[in-house]
Amino acid sequence: MISSTEIILFLIKLFRKKFMAKQAGAKKIEKGKVTQKAKKAGKKLGALYELAGESFKRKNRFCPKCGPGMYLGKHKDRDVCGKCGYVEMNRK
Ligand SMILES: [Zn+2]
Repeated sequence: MISSTEIILFLIKLFRKKFMAKQAGAKKIEKGKVTQKAKKAGKKLGALYELAGESFKRKNRFCPKCGPGMYLGKHKDRDVCGKCGYVEMNRK
């Protein structure tokens, strides 16, 4: 079970991350260097979470080294932790 406090803390973290990503994107545009990363910053939440009634399910997995809270970024052939650099290859 996920408590409501946990959800609130999680959402705060999420919005802060989004806000920072926007800021980073704005800075890049100011310098006149619009990179592909800046364009990718606005990722849809639906791509990361599945809502089921009152609870939600995370699609991305947590980093085994950093523990819950740090997600593994999804790439074409691997999952990567942005904090510690943990990489998990998933070739088929
Ligand atoms: Zn990690």
